Amino acid sequence: MTAKNASQYCYACGGTLEQGETTFTADFGSGVVVVRNVPATVCSQCGMEWIDDDAAEKIEKIVKDAKEKHSVVEVMSLPA
Ligand SMILES: [Zn+2]
Repeated sequence: MTAKNASQYCYACGGTLEQGETTFTADFGSGVVVVRNVPATVCSQCGMEWIDDDAAEKIEKIVKDAKEKHSVVEVMSLPA
């Protein structure tokens, strides 16, 4: 474990990880949620993405709300 995010390496390919953004999509059967501008850690070599913990929590809530509203398509973006 290290406290320095800047020294993280991709577990899949060993590439350098960089802070970036991604688009998250979830298909929960009766509908689809798309969340844009999601803060994520992205591998500069293979493109693998890890969504940040606090962003993942927000997305979880968005998906839950969309299910409760029975949304067919929900598109939104997170503030960076
Ligand atoms: Zn990688």
